[in-house]
Amino acid sequence: MSKALVWLRNDLRLSDNPALAAAATADQVQALYIHETDGNLRPIGAAARWWLHHSLQSLARDLAAIGVDLRVETGPAQATITEVAKAFGADEVHWNRRYAPAARDLDATIKSSLRGDGLAVTSHPGNVLVEPWDIETGQGKPYSVFTPFWKTLRDMPIARPLPAPSGNARKSQSVDGDYRQPHWAKKLAAHWTIGETAALDRLDDFLDEVAAYPEGRDVPAKPATSRLSPHLRFGEISPRQVWHRSRAFAHAHPEQAAAVEKFLSELAWRDFSYHQLYHRDDIATVPMQPKYEGVKWRHAPAQLAAWQRGQTGIPIVDAGMRELWETGYMHNRVRMLVASFLAKNLLIDWRQGENWFWDCLVDADEANNPASWQWVAGSGLDAAPYFRIFNPVTQGERFDGAGDYVRRWVPELAGLPERVIHKPAEAPADVLEQAGITIGRTYPAPIVDLKQTRQRALDAIGDL
Ligand code: FAD
Repeated sequence: MSKALVWLRNDLRLSDNPALAAAATADQVQALYIHETDGNLRPIGAAARWWLHHSLQSLARDLAAIGVDLRVETGPAQATITEVAKAFGADEVHWNRRYAPAARDLDATIKSSLRGDGLAVTSHPGNVLVEPWDIETGQGKPYSVFTPFWKTLRDMPIARPLPAPSGNARKSQSVDGDYRQPHWAKKLAAHWTIGETAALDRLDDFLDEVAAYPEGRDVPAKPATSRLSPHLRFGEISPRQVWHRSRAFAHAHPEQAAAVEKFLSELAWRDFSYHQLYHRDDIATVPMQPKYEGVKWRHAPAQLAAWQRGQTGIPIVDAGMRELWETGYMHNRVRMLVASFLAKNLLIDWRQGENWFWDCLVDADEANNPASWQWVAGSGLDAAPYFRIFNPVTQGERFDGAGDYVRRWVPELAGLPERVIHKPAEAPADVLEQAGITIGRTYPAPIVDLKQTRQRALDAIGDL
């Protein structure tokens, strides 16, 4: 009788799960999730831990329905998997690959050690559209610019998703692990439905409305984007499923083909981030352009705290930071604005912002988060040029013209008319009074002058 162990990591789903599908051909299957305590791995942030807890519960139920037990352990990966494989009597082990340098090293060590113990170990492709080494420039190098990466990727054959394995129902396990409730867990729960079924439903609901995506995706007050990011982060849905379902939808609705293609090009940014994660030194700590090591970042703890709490006096920045705190998510356009404000106007090291996002985002992703922060800070490979410094007031006026996003997340400004909602400190006294606002008391004055700090950033970065 053959016995297969499947080690699940960032792939908490049954369908299109190559490792699970391969394991399911054995007579008996055991699934394992490890809360890994290895020092080299980046510990998961608090909001993502909340998501993970619920995602594992959902996965355990789904696995039980096909007769597979999910064992959840905490400890160093190698010792834990070795022990579980032994206790179960596994003769084969499967997992889907991960791409961060430290995780790859760890997986390679575990693979050779298990093989040394006589087990058959197979790693599978399951978390990106194309393996990072299977896409390269004409010169055989990794890509460093997105547009040519996308032009190549969009015409590559993307493997078709696999069906979920079927099996015999069994009892589900408890998956409490070492999870501790972060105190804002209740708030987060109001905004999300977690698990594989929810992820697939989300995609279908989004595709029904995809026509609004190309224009609406930049408007933070509109729910025009898919909000699939945390589902993709934990692999409740695979990028290949998103790709093929979207293309099939476009085939059935040719008038939506352009909108679907725009959406898939954004999805391709995720693969591009993983491409960078795989090919570069630790992208969460090492600037991809080495000269950025020379930036003299400011030590400004009070300003950092004002940014984190959404108390900078710049309405769109404060709205974004408060959306993040309340929901574990922030709209992409606003992520760019708050990141630019931190790294450029405040001249605070982007790594501090990246760490805050890492702890607060439910979609905190080890490729997308650092790659995007480096993109905004200017140190990324295909980064926004250093002299492009967003003005958060004019950006707010452009993308949140009516001020609906600001009114929702900064309710103390709700009474202001459109023309001043993005610059309350400049509003006439009677307008402020009518709206019940006292600058410096009910809402802060801007913590920095945007013009001066723009110049400071240009000097600091331009001189490198
Ligand atoms: P949609 O527009 O519906 O896009 C669909 C999917 O494509 C997303 O779920 C995501 O997987 C991928 N995607 C879209 N835009 C990008 C992008 N610019 N870069 C990489 N992938 C993209 N995304 C994360 O998933 N995790 C992060 O930790 C993260 N941190 C970010 C930090 C900063 C400073 C910035 C500027 C962006 C960050 N992003 C991150 C990228 C992007 O903001 C989110 O993926 C997007 O807002 C998620 O919303 P959505 O699923 O509705 O996106």
